Amino acid sequence: MHSVSTGVGEELFQLAAKLYPICRSITGEGVRRSLAIIGEQLPLVVHEVPSGSAAYDWEVPLEWNIDDAAVFSPDGERVVDFQNHNLHVVSYSEPVAATLSLEDLDQKLHSLPEHPEWIPYRTSYYRRAWGFCLRHDARLGLRSGDYRVEIRSSLAPGSLTYGELAVPGRDRHEVLFFTHTCHPSLANDNAAGMAVTTALAKWVASAPRRFSYRFVFAPGTIGSLCWLKANERSLGRIRAGLVLALLGDPGSLTYKMSRDGEAWTDSIATYALSQIDAASRVLPFSPYGYDERQLCSPGFNLPIGRLTRSANGGYPQYHSSADDLGLIRPVHLEESLAACRMFVDVLEEDARYVNRSPKGEPRLGKRGLYGAVGGVTPAQCEHAMLWVLNQSDGSKSLLDIARRSGVPFGVVREAASALEAAGLLESETRDKREMQRQRKRGQR
Ligand code: ZN
Repeated sequence: MHSVSTGVGEELFQLAAKLYPICRSITGEGVRRSLAIIGEQLPLVVHEVPSGSAAYDWEVPLEWNIDDAAVFSPDGERVVDFQNHNLHVVSYSEPVAATLSLEDLDQKLHSLPEHPEWIPYRTSYYRRAWGFCLRHDARLGLRSGDYRVEIRSSLAPGSLTYGELAVPGRDRHEVLFFTHTCHPSLANDNAAGMAVTTALAKWVASAPRRFSYRFVFAPGTIGSLCWLKANERSLGRIRAGLVLALLGDPGSLTYKMSRDGEAWTDSIATYALSQIDAASRVLPFSPYGYDERQLCSPGFNLPIGRLTRSANGGYPQYHSSADDLGLIRPVHLEESLAACRMFVDVLEEDARYVNRSPKGEPRLGKRGLYGAVGGVTPAQCEHAMLWVLNQSDGSKSLLDIARRSGVPFGVVREAASALEAAGLLESETRDKREMQRQRKRGQR
């Protein structure tokens, strides 16, 4: 049974809040600590890919870790302080200890004049550099003089870390959920995505499933490339999936299509969103955004879409300190999880059937089929059954029928089960198997 809705959103928020303060990057202890927190809830398998490992056109960089960093004013005050906010340091900053004039220091500072109270989020993964990010109003308040800068970081051979959970089902074909784990203290991007993916994985693993499921928690870009490289031979098993990110802000649920735009994932996700959020949006594919850039590159072309609320870059607080715990809400996290769960429910239950009595309408009353569907009136039940019988020629799935008829998928599903039990409907796969058996018998 579904738990009462209050509480789920709060649990998601608490997990996001626990992950939020950690200084993550594409490598380093921050990712490991985050995966350890997620690992308290899931039997996550943690993989380490050594620095220097090739992943297609990319290479795992040196591992970055940081203990402390600050800019000291001429009178020795920590005017920019990593201990106050980890966004204050450009991610992947090399170690530095130097004294600079304000003019020289200014070359190393990043701020947002249009939002003077927010700290920007900046990275320099593949170009060795260092820098500080700060509020623009704080930057304007710096007096001339000599500033001491210290960044106690390390860039050393180590590894890139990602976590993975495989949940085997009856069918070896897989559904993939992918979320990035590389952002420091940003709540919607990506503490919210990690929290929703964790809760989804827990729920998927809590019951026997038709499909096999795989959940990957990896740093953006280089993490997905490492995962693709390690799993290239089994990618053919993937039938559907979603990149999950930005799932806690007040924006409407947004689905971004797979590269082909006609995948099963696309039909299911657009349907699930339409049922959960009347204001939901569907965006066409573009080779920009999160790990769909890699998963949907032409050499893989996986049938994977992306679920967010606001899109990347689609809200003013994006990639700044204003993407904090005040931006995300339990109710939004919970709705995002509900959309993911409906996606899985439809995936699990969608099927094609064949009407065994296709010449004219079979009489439902004499088979006791009126009222065979729970929670709907006999008239609604008849309506659903007539749609299922009419459309079940082996080419239309239950999802196709739900979309065409406007009857909710769950009702269509139940109507099909009742019709199958009454011998009026046969699953298409069973039908095929029967045909194969007959063919074999004919050959003997
Ligand atoms: Zn981001």
